[in-house]
This record gives sequence, structure tokens and C-alpha cells, in this order.
Amino acid sequence: MNIRVRYAPSPTGLQHIGGIRTALFNWHFARSAGGKFILRLEDTDRTRYDPAFEQNLYDTFRWLGIHWDEGPDTGGLFAPYVQSKRTELYRHHAQELLEKGHGYRCFCSAERLEKIRAERETARSSATGYDRHCRTINAEESSRRAAAGENFTIRLRIPLEAVTCFNDRLLGDIEWKNNDINPDPVLLKSDGFPTYHLANIVDDHLMEITHVLRAQEWLSSTPLHVILYKAFDWDPPEFCHLPMVMGQDGKKLSKRHGAASIDEFRLQGILSEALINYTALLGCSYEEGKELYSPEELGKRFSLDKLNKAPAVFDYKKLEWYNGQYIRMKTNDELAALTIPWALQQGLFTENAAVEQRCLYTEAIGLVRERVVFLPEIPEKLRFVFSEPALPAAEEFMPKKSGLVSTLSLLTMGKTLLGEYFPGGKALSDEEAENLAKELAEKEEIKVGDLLMPLRVAITGQRVSPPLFASIRLLGEKQCLARVERALRFLSGQELVGHSPS
Ligand code: GLU
Ligand code: ZN
Repeated sequence: MNIRVRYAPSPTGLQHIGGIRTALFNWHFARSAGGKFILRLEDTDRTRYDPAFEQNLYDTFRWLGIHWDEGPDTGGLFAPYVQSKRTELYRHHAQELLEKGHGYRCFCSAERLEKIRAERETARSSATGYDRHCRTINAEESSRRAAAGENFTIRLRIPLEAVTCFNDRLLGDIEWKNNDINPDPVLLKSDGFPTYHLANIVDDHLMEITHVLRAQEWLSSTPLHVILYKAFDWDPPEFCHLPMVMGQDGKKLSKRHGAASIDEFRLQGILSEALINYTALLGCSYEEGKELYSPEELGKRFSLDKLNKAPAVFDYKKLEWYNGQYIRMKTNDELAALTIPWALQQGLFTENAAVEQRCLYTEAIGLVRERVVFLPEIPEKLRFVFSEPALPAAEEFMPKKSGLVSTLSLLTMGKTLLGEYFPGGKALSDEEAENLAKELAEKEEIKVGDLLMPLRVAITGQRVSPPLFASIRLLGEKQCLARVERALRFLSGQELVGHSPS
């Protein structure tokens, strides 16, 4: 069988984790089976449609690197792949159902439908949906009223007192009492636009979709779809409703849990590889203990048998872990290219900065690449390389249990140390530099950490900084010395203002 699957979003919101998880599973399934992955835009709800959401769909998928074989932009044998361009087709199919008696015209006004809803509410009735008022209008009267120009919708005539059965690849055999299905839903609206149900199954059939992999929230629509397939005399595709994605509180993943859209993750500095890897494992298990998978690997190894029935839990911390892993896999050049927009935004250097500045940036990434979780942390942590950091408060320079006087003397020793780091103008290696620091600390009977703290703060502006020796090497002797002298002047000034000595 030629596997054909689709992702069929409605552009009524930004792309979110649930959506791209569905897309990924479909994509990986197609890849694993040598099948085709199709993108179809279900844009028939014109009141909620916004071109910005459509653009967001394309941008998100481009960023993620997910490709479709057929779709609105790529075209294909079954084009167009945009439902608003296929309305004639749906009208034609609704007409067919009408003629076969599986559909009927409903002439009820919006006011009447609203009235029955309100009456039921007052009566606290458990009945919901349409009251099947027009189901018994005979064909003749129906045609006459339509010809006279009365407004109507076309509804599906659901066989009553029957049961609809279908198999779900993950959930097994499912039986649904027809009386529990939304009563005779609208297929074609009075403006001639189809509803989701009609357009969705007409397209799945015409586009020769073999498997419908979609979120579990659509499960309750499936009996209705199966009835529609029967009404058209078509074979339904295989259905597979994917495991739910929850927040850590056990509730369905939503905005409340954090980033609402994929855009937000991108802007936070999450890498697309990390997001794909983590999302592809939400509800799907591969190899015990193996956590890192490339998109190619996922595309090879996916199978419907690997899906879990249990809901998946989305853990932001785990995504951060993935991001750290993927950051470590990039080269400094790649990380520079990825983070330069943030570096510019944070003002580390300007758009037309000299090549040396950019080279310095790329080199400096080596100092922090092991320590960041989000991309913008890279330029944040490297700010001190590009501009002299603001002088922190005097206390910031002081090692634990030290006061101003001892800190001043530690920094003076630090300065001496610095003077030995560039013998003949060439910087020592980390190891050599560290040995020198150790020797001096031993001689002075102090801890190395204490010796280096004021030096670290003077040079980087922070108590916790990228590796000190490497930072010194990168900044060069002259700049480091200037920073140390500035700190010495500052701390001596503090002494005069009357800090308690120790
Ligand atoms: N347009 C529906 C959505 O927005 C498609 C559901 C389905 O896959 O059938 O998710
Ligand atoms: Zn009616």
C-alpha cells in the first residue's frame, strides 16, 4: 500500500506543541514507510481565519525543517490543497448526499436554533444540538422551498438507534451509539461553505489518504466521519488517535503551562532540533535509555507500534536539557550564526562591526558553550568581552569572610599574577596559568578561590563567570590590566569612604 498521510491544520491560531507533534508523527510515519506527507489547509471557518496564522504555519515549518511532498505551495496531483479553493467540490458532494437521502435541507433560522438551545437550558434538559426539526420534511416540499429562495443548510441524516463501529490503530475497536453522536450535524452552511466534517472526509477520500493520525480530541468526530464514508460508499482510511499531551499538572497542555506557540520557543532560543527531538518522543517510545534522535533517524524508525496509549507529559525542563545537548553539538561558527541577532540586539557590537569583532565573538563562544541552556544566554554571558562591565558593589569583590582590606590585597596579588600570564607577550596555557595561581596561593597561605575572586570580578564583572584564564587570554593583557587597575582604584576609594577594615 502506498501510505499517504496528512497534517490538516485550520489557520485559526498559532502553531503549538500539540499541532507540530501531530505533524511530526505523520511526517515520520510517511518517511518510515516510503509514503507521502501532505499539508492541507482547512480554512473553511472564515470567521476565525487570519492570514497571519497561515503565514505562521509556513514560517514554523520552515524553521523546523519539516517538508511536505504535496501542499498549498508545492502543489501535487490533488491540488489545490487549500479548502477555501475547493468549495465547489464540497457543494457537489453535499448535493449527492441530498439526492441519496443521506442528507436533508434544514430551513431553521439561527433564531430558532438559539431559541431551542435557551429553552433547553431553562428546562435543564440534557438534550444538546439540533432537534431534527426538518428531518421529516419530504423531498418535494424541501425542493420547492429551496427553489423559492429560502435559506437552508444541508445536514447529515444519522441513522437512529444504530451503533457505529470502527477500529482505532491505538485504541482498538470502538463502538459508538449513534444516539450519542451530535444530532444531524450541518455539512454545508447556508453560505455554501462546508463544515469541517464534510470538507475533511471529502478531501481525505479524494486525496487518497490511507491513515488519519490526529489528536485524540477528534475521536468523538470519528463515528460521524465513518457514517459519512458509508453514505458516500467509500472505504474509510485507518484511524489512529494520538496520545494526549498534558502539562505536568495532568491537565491538557495549554498556554497556562508556559510557551503557547512554537514561535515563543524560537524566540526564547530553543533550537529546532531540540524541539523536534523532544516533541517526537511525546507519546512514542523508541529505544530504552536512548534520548537523542536526529530527524532522519526518527523518519527511519517511526512505527505506529511505538505509540503509547498513556498520555504524554510535556516537561519544560526536559526540553531545556535537550536544548543544552544540541547546543553542545554545534560548532562555534554555527552558534555564532545562530546567536548574532541576539548579540546585536543586546548591543555587544553593531551590524557593521569590524570582522575582528565577529571573529572575537565566535572564538569567545568557546568559553560559554558548555554552560548555556538558551541561545541568548551566549551573548549575555559574553557581554564583558565586548565592553568593560559596570563596576559592581565593593562587596561583590570580596571572597567569603573577607573584608575590604584583605580583598584589596588579594586583588593586588591578582595583578601580580596577571603580570606573569603573558611572558614575552604570549599567553600561558590554562594549566600553566592555574599552576602559577596555585603556587602563589600556597606561598601566601590562602585559598586559590579567594585569590582569584577579586580578579574574576574585576575582569568579568561577575562572581560566577566563564573560565577565568581563558577569558583573560581572550581579552589580552592590556585590557585585563586596565580593568584590574580600575577595580583597585575603586576599592581604595571605598576604603577612604570608611568601610570597616579587616
Ligand atoms: N482541521 C482539523 C484541525 O484543525 C483537522 C483535524 C483532523 O486531522 O481531522 O486539527
Ligand atoms: Zn431545521
